[in-house]
Amino acid sequence: MTTASSTESTTEARESASPVLSARDLRVWYGSTRGPVAAVDGVTFDVRPGETLGLVGESGCGKSTLGRGVLGLLPAGAAVDGEVRFAGKNLVGMPAKELQQLRGPELGLIFQEPMTRLNPLMKVSEHFEETLKTHHPELPKDQIRSRALEALRGMGIPASRYESYPHEFSGGMRQRIMIALALVLRPAFVVADEPTTALDVLVEAQIIQILADLRRNFDTALVLITHNLGIVAEACDRVAVMYAGHIVEQGDAREVFANPQHPYTQELLRSTISLGTTGLHFIPGSPPDLAHPPVGCRFHPRCPKAMRVCAEEAPPEVLLPSGSRNTCWLPVPDMTTAEGRLPLEVEEISVADEA
Ligand code: SF4
Repeated sequence: MTTASSTESTTEARESASPVLSARDLRVWYGSTRGPVAAVDGVTFDVRPGETLGLVGESGCGKSTLGRGVLGLLPAGAAVDGEVRFAGKNLVGMPAKELQQLRGPELGLIFQEPMTRLNPLMKVSEHFEETLKTHHPELPKDQIRSRALEALRGMGIPASRYESYPHEFSGGMRQRIMIALALVLRPAFVVADEPTTALDVLVEAQIIQILADLRRNFDTALVLITHNLGIVAEACDRVAVMYAGHIVEQGDAREVFANPQHPYTQELLRSTISLGTTGLHFIPGSPPDLAHPPVGCRFHPRCPKAMRVCAEEAPPEVLLPSGSRNTCWLPVPDMTTAEGRLPLEVEEISVADEA
């Protein structure tokens, strides 16, 4: 049984461990007819062994691009800059062949839609044979089978389904097979990109439980990309909130949810529907065109707390006493009081003016 003190000591041990993966000033951009689109623009974070970092934000804020950028799985035409340190090496700029060798045994990815990744013409057994043979050609067939069955058992898939085809499973089971395939090589770091999208809430709960067991049992570091703040509150140790290619707030998930500091985080949380919701809230406007993002704080056209400085200069990242990091002018005392830094009337910076 896990006690409160053992949970605390596990958390402390995790926080003092060296990161499995560290991203520093990571940038990903695409060429377009409208100019370069900076989908990820100077992102910095760490993930430690056994830790789950939730990456949240609206659609189009750069979450999936960041997840794929970290693993070097971007489409042709994307450019990457900055540093992603893993096992003493920088993954950015690493030769494709070397990176390919790390993917699978060291770096895993769980995709959003399993049917796009599972070959409908291949049995489950063949998927595992292909994955394991690629990275462990020395493994005999019986060991491949026993490792595959162990991974499937961990996901609640019985051995009797080993010779079935993907279409013979429900959506939730297919997603669990995908997770088993990603984990059969025991990677140290995994990106799970919206792993529960399109699943019903019961299956979603199962998948989240599986991911929690995974990090507990294997000390796997996990980045969980989701738009579902409820999942992050339940399953993540830390959270990073993305807006328009930037991480605007990151910190301990409980602290950020209990005491959100960045106006975008506050607005996202206000927009979440729960049993206690009495009226719907939405953030006016939409995320900016990343080919031409707003000057200053990228959230200022939609921010209910915007000040004049927000429309002029990009805010600094401020380390708060809680340990959270917040990229906003509000915690900078001089900015809210000095001459010329007085709050803007919200209507002065309406979305229409920015369009
Ligand atoms: Fe709002 Fe200004 Fe903070 Fe941006 S910097 S989130 S516009 S208060």
